[in-house]
Amino acid sequence: MNPQLLLGAEAIALAAIDAGISGVYAYPGTPSTEITEFIQQSDVARQKGIHSAWATNEKTAYEAALGMSYAGKRTLICMKHVGLNVAADAFINSAITGVHGGMVVVVADDPSMHSSQNEQDTRVYGKFAFLPVIEPSEQQETYDAVRYAFDFSEEMQLPVLLRITTRLSHARSIVLPKAPRDENPFNPSTDKRKWILLPVNARVNYAKLLDKQKQLTAVSESSFLNKEIAGTGKKAVIAFGIAFSYVMEVRESAQLDFPVLKISHYPLPDKTIRAFTEHYDDILIVEEGYPVYEELLKGYFGNSKFHGRLDGTLPRTGELSPDILAKALGVEDGEARQAIPSVVAGRPPMLCQGCSHRDVFEELNTVFEAYPEKHLFSDIGCYTLGALPPFSAINTCVDMGASVTMAKGAADAGLHPAVAVIGDSTFTHSGMTGLLDAVNDRSPVTIIISDNSTTAMTGGQNSAGTGRLFDICKGIGVEEAHIRTIIPLKKNSEENKAILKEEMEYKGVSVIIAQRECVQTASRKRREKAKETPA
Ligand code: SF4
Repeated sequence: MNPQLLLGAEAIALAAIDAGISGVYAYPGTPSTEITEFIQQSDVARQKGIHSAWATNEKTAYEAALGMSYAGKRTLICMKHVGLNVAADAFINSAITGVHGGMVVVVADDPSMHSSQNEQDTRVYGKFAFLPVIEPSEQQETYDAVRYAFDFSEEMQLPVLLRITTRLSHARSIVLPKAPRDENPFNPSTDKRKWILLPVNARVNYAKLLDKQKQLTAVSESSFLNKEIAGTGKKAVIAFGIAFSYVMEVRESAQLDFPVLKISHYPLPDKTIRAFTEHYDDILIVEEGYPVYEELLKGYFGNSKFHGRLDGTLPRTGELSPDILAKALGVEDGEARQAIPSVVAGRPPMLCQGCSHRDVFEELNTVFEAYPEKHLFSDIGCYTLGALPPFSAINTCVDMGASVTMAKGAADAGLHPAVAVIGDSTFTHSGMTGLLDAVNDRSPVTIIISDNSTTAMTGGQNSAGTGRLFDICKGIGVEEAHIRTIIPLKKNSEENKAILKEEMEYKGVSVIIAQRECVQTASRKRREKAKETPA
């Protein structure tokens, strides 16, 4: 097999194809999107008929993947860290059902919140669900880990969680692929006790899951993903996942030779860790994300041997980097290495010129002038940038779908007008159920679906409700007379503002679909069409 220069995300995708998956299920979210996109663009995946359409949200993706596993086939599921909150119900219960065909759940965490609402650490979910977690530290190991994780999943009959972070997902390195494996045959599970989580079955399955923990720990003890780097001195480092790569970069560039224990397989290999720590007086714990294992190793009453994020040796929040580690390890030029080269220009986020959201916010701001107070509940998408000048248009942005439900709650409390703005993809992801609540309670809300016919923020993936938003809203029960469609363009501005005003005044549920395609998606489609059309 030829070496390939791949992003970490692409290494996961290629490994999954080579591991014989029959489907990938995902909702786009930075920094996980490229995994599914690679499979969608792969000729090999197309020839094999690997399923790779985007799901409506992470929960539907997870459940569909579980269905494919039930049928005996291998499946990959991909999402960003906050997506696992959406899929958490299915995720936790899948630990109790277990799997049939191998199932690997890739969750990409975003420490430092480059494009996310929080920096939660997915390893906590793995511990919570009692599932094995694998956290590779570089691209080749990522490829190997994914291949291994599918075999391990089938051996243990459990989903295996693969945790990556932004830098691993988005950095390129050479990867040497292995020979591809065939897909599993179609072989649906017949074990009803396993799959029907009635309490009588769930109790048995849960006990089995707990029984497996010893075996999972024993596998970690001998995993190829954990290793010890010998060194000298009484100070040592325990590094987890990609943090190991940062530690080794500092160790090599500063020509240090402290001992390092690398952990990339959980549950923790406790015997290995105990044997290692006995030899040293001071141990720096380096993990990307929460101090999950630092807390555990330090113990409830504190063990002064261990240092890290909890005692301030490392910053409590944000991404780690070789520069931060250099400082923590006492390397003197650590400060100087942090300087960002002048060639890297600062780029404050802003809506593209010509974006339809701009017209929506301008019109909304004008209409709001007639009211003593403006309260606009927003959601997650490009339009969240409407919070920034020059629009300064939105008051809240909490999680996917929360614009609709927060506007409803505020309306129930007496706020008028209570207006939500949500994108078309986010609406189908998790806004629809909130709209149903508003309809059932006859809450006086105005929901603006800023419909650009794509999932723009993550790069223009298909949106689940494209072309059907009117029918969906009607089906949910919004009165037809109060589902209005506008085209947010300057030439329609007066007409649009009149419609916005009318619906804000209406004391019931109204929906305004502001329909104009994302200019980036539209121009990409034009470029693709031009390529296909012979000159
Ligand atoms: S990518 Fe599309 S939706 Fe997002 S800001 Fe640009 S034009 Fe607007």
